[in-house]
Amino acid sequence: MSVNSEKIWFDGEMVRWEEAKVHVLTHALHYGTAYFEGIRCYSLEDGRSAVFRLEEHIRRFFDSGLILGFPPPYELAAIQQATIDVIKINKLKACYIRPLAFMGFGDMGLYAPDNPIHVIIAVWPWGAYLGDEGIKNGIRAKVSSYTRHHVNVMMTKSKVSGNYVNSVLAKNEVKKAGYDEAIMLDTEGYVAEASGENIFVVRNGRVKTTPFTSILPGITRDSLLTLARDKGYHVQEERFTRDELYTADEAFFTGTAAEVTPIREVDNRRIGSGKPGPVTKDLQETFFAIVKGKEKNYTHWLTYL
Ligand SMILES: *Cc1c(COP(=O)(O)O)cnc(C)c1O
Repeated sequence: MSVNSEKIWFDGEMVRWEEAKVHVLTHALHYGTAYFEGIRCYSLEDGRSAVFRLEEHIRRFFDSGLILGFPPPYELAAIQQATIDVIKINKLKACYIRPLAFMGFGDMGLYAPDNPIHVIIAVWPWGAYLGDEGIKNGIRAKVSSYTRHHVNVMMTKSKVSGNYVNSVLAKNEVKKAGYDEAIMLDTEGYVAEASGENIFVVRNGRVKTTPFTSILPGITRDSLLTLARDKGYHVQEERFTRDELYTADEAFFTGTAAEVTPIREVDNRRIGSGKPGPVTKDLQETFFAIVKGKEKNYTHWLTYL
């Protein structure tokens, strides 16, 4: 899949897509010294567009930088405004938004405090990450042989580019084996998350997701937790094991790219009926209504363009 739009915000300027380039000795290209965000802008029924939970995403972008030790050299409000500006200049109604901060060209040693920190914000139209069919009928997942990061090996609360080699290994492994997505276990063997999504299970109508240990604190995860609580479901943030996943009535992934994607199979075992269950469907439907501005109680999560 190739992506495209007209302009990319690059260090404060709107640069033509073709011209948004860096040197091959960029520090981040060698050592993974970069961090990013994934945000979505949705087109609403009334013809307007809105970015979903923009403030929280930009806050997490800055958190990622703080964790790594080089925050973006901009004010938070400036990056927020730039995000809106780049969507508008590209005249996109709905898109995926990718802010990225990276250590640039300069010193090639690991300690390179004087290298410039660049920031780009790119946007492009992007449909369902795990497919429309997956959103509707669920996907097939496999537990990867690769373990998720230990919390003192990588900084798991940060979307640090280098962290994603672990995700790429897991994703490639299961895709080549014929599955759609990889589930990763933590260093103690409990379920952590997927390559780029958080994971939920439902049993006897109770909703459960993994706590903030080795996982990336997903904003979609937080939205689904809030939503489930508001709807009166019993909700737990608690570690669970691989066999608990096999015996769940329902399971689903959450993430900005994947949105809310039901899991119909794990390791060749059918989850529940093998179709998206009633709780998953209920939460998924409400989630899509919220991002499209149809749920009046959650419009504070939207930044209208
Ligand atoms: C980005 C990401 C998620 C999902 O986070 P959202 O804020 O919901 O997009 C989950 N896990 C990993 C590893 C991620 O990189």
